[in-house]
Parts: sequence; C-alpha cells; structure tokens
Amino acid sequence: MTEEGDTVLIKRGDNSYQGVLMPSTTGSIVIKLINGYNAGFDPHTVEMELLEKKSDVMAQEVTIPPPNPNLPTVSILSTGGTIASKVDYRTGAVTSQFTAEDILLAIPELTKIANFNAKVVYSILSENMRPDYWIKLAEEVEKEISSGASGVIITHGTDTMMYTAAALAFMIKTPVPIVFVGSQRSADRPSSDNAMNAICAAQVATSDIAEVTVVMHATTSDDHCNIHRATRVRKMHTSRRDAFQTINSRPLGQVDYPSGKITTHLDYIKRGERELSINIKMTSRCALLKYTTGASPETLLFASANYKGIVLEGTGLGHVSTEWIPYIERTTQAGIPVVMTSQCINGRVCDRVYDTGRDILKAGVIEGEDMLPEVALVKLMWAAGQTQDIDEIKKIMSTNIAGEITRSSQT
Ligand code: ASP
Repeated sequence: MTEEGDTVLIKRGDNSYQGVLMPSTTGSIVIKLINGYNAGFDPHTVEMELLEKKSDVMAQEVTIPPPNPNLPTVSILSTGGTIASKVDYRTGAVTSQFTAEDILLAIPELTKIANFNAKVVYSILSENMRPDYWIKLAEEVEKEISSGASGVIITHGTDTMMYTAAALAFMIKTPVPIVFVGSQRSADRPSSDNAMNAICAAQVATSDIAEVTVVMHATTSDDHCNIHRATRVRKMHTSRRDAFQTINSRPLGQVDYPSGKITTHLDYIKRGERELSINIKMTSRCALLKYTTGASPETLLFASANYKGIVLEGTGLGHVSTEWIPYIERTTQAGIPVVMTSQCINGRVCDRVYDTGRDILKAGVIEGEDMLPEVALVKLMWAAGQTQDIDEIKKIMSTNIAGEITRSSQT
C-alpha cells in the first residue's frame, strides 16, 4: 500500500518514471520527479511499484548539538522566498519554515560553522518586497549587531534580492558581515542550491568581510559560491543556479565548497574597521524608466508629476532621443533629479562623446557612472531621503558610498 511521501516507480508501456508520491485531488497519480517537476498519470494506464517507504526516509533522526561556546553566533533573519520554503507532502504546499532549529535540522553542517539565532522578519515572495520593508529590515539587522551578533545572514527571494541588498548597503555602515542568500531551486528538488548557498553564506558571515554581500552559487557545479558586493550584483538568469553575477567588477571573493575556504579578489572593509551606524532616511517615490525606441517623452511628464527622482535607463553610453531632451530639462528645472544609466548593463555612461549626450548633460542630467540602473534607483531613493536640494542629491549620486561606483570600469 503506497502513501504520500513514498518513493515509487510508475511504469507506462516501455517508459518508467521514478518520484515521490504527491497528494492529488483529481484522481490522477501525481509524483515529484527527480528533476523537481511534478508529473500526473491516469491510474488506469499505469502500474505503480513501491521503491521506498516514506517512513524509511523519515527514520533518519537528526539532533542538534548544544551551542558550542568556541563558535561565533550568527543571526539569521528570514524574509521568505524559495530558500525559506519546504514541501509539505501531506498537502503538497510549499510552506515557509523558519526556526533556527528547522534550519539546523535541514542543514546540519551549519552547526560546525557557528551558533545561530533565527527570526522571521517577513514571509513573502521577494516580488512583494517594498522600500518600507527595507527600513524595518535594516532596523532588525542593527538590533542583531548591537546585541552582539558576529554576523547576520538575510535569507531572501532571489528575484529582488539585489534591490534589498543595495538598500541595506546604503543604509548601514557595518562592523560585521551582512550576507544575503537565497536559492533558485527549492529544498525538495535534488538540484536545490539552498544547502550549499546557506553553508557558504555562513562561512562569509563568520569571516572578516564587514560589508553587505550576496553569496550564491557561482557555476553549474557544486564547487564554489561567489561573494558579490551588494551594489554590484544582478540576477542574470531566471532559473540557473549560477544566476547571480557581479557586473562591472569582479566578485569580491569566493567560498570553496565544501572546504569553506574563502579567497578574496578585491580590497574590502574588514571586521571591526568601522562603527555600526544606520541611516534609514529614504523615499520610495523614485522611478526607473527605460528609454525604448519611439517611447513618448510624455512618460517623463507623468513621472515628474508623481515622483521625487527619476533614473533613466538610456541607450548605449546614456542616450535618449533628442525629443526627450526638453522634457528632461523641464523635469530638472522643477527640482526633480534625473540620473542617467545604461541599458547595456555593462560599462559606464559617458554623455560627453556625442552631441545628444552633451545636450542631455546641459539639460541637467546626473551621470550614473558605472552604476547598475537598479542600484542607481535605490541610491536615488536614499539620496532623496537625505535632502531635497538637487545639487546635494547630485553630489551624493556622484560619490561612491558602498562600492557602487568605480573610477574606471574593471571589465
Ligand atoms: N519569486 C521568488 C522570490 O523571489 C523566487 C525565489 O525565491 O528565488 O521570492
């Protein structure tokens, strides 16, 4: 007799499919295949063979060792996303799991790296993240560090992790590592990246890299994670485990797996080099507009009536059609900063080369240097939270605050 959670072999004609029996309300047999996908079968057309009882799998008891006084203590703050989910075989639902105990039971290797405290700050998919949630998250991180955490890990959905990570990099000057981690594939899939990413994140959280970083799978194999500076990273693929890439620079470093050896490639701020401080002033009323061929400049009028700052994703070196230039001028003259970035993603804007560029500069555009458009947006929200003076905002936008601008691009 089979039940949900059993491993079974389904035979249909010459084909056979192995997987874990899932709940089904339709009368079909549903199994989760080894590749992580679900497959449904008409029970009248297949034969099902039991390979392994669910209870055999569950019988492997794991216990958590008591806290080790020789290890540092790391705080894990959960915001949701795939990394915080597990599949409930009774209902088939992906649910959020999040006590320190849950994590350590799921990934026992972590207990060799640190002691952990865990807290759920949000249980959301990251597409539902909002700038006011960044503020609360920054405050929670501050609390953990002030209470003595040696490092903080923030688990986050991968889709908008780069925005939240950049926001915290602008808001917090940290004396300890703050590490964002997520997973592209949930824990129930054999190819899940959640355990390896979490273990590598814990290595970085106990290292001397006192910056806000994102730690994620680096290649298609399970050999290392890259350590990305929060203001340089971008999700570049919808589903691959190595989706996260540092843009316009090298990754700050890497963590080898399973050895945990950290190698750094860039200079970085070291543990204890600065005092903890937090500046959460920020306005969400900024927009990122992508210029596309034929886009109406009136978009800019709408944006300037509704927002306190605008980032443009221009073409090439940082251009929009000449039609847009008078509208940009009206916007900046109304005291609304306009920052130019490039939809090329790689490279630096330079509006001094072509006439269009020079006219755009005359219209008052602030050059976004080699900042990623999304990072420029988060920074503008932060800058416009500090001051309403357009010249002051320009100064902030042109100053490197958290590694988001480099003088000359390194790639
Ligand atoms: N949509 C999910 C999220 O960003 C995907 C993930 O967690 O990776 O929350």
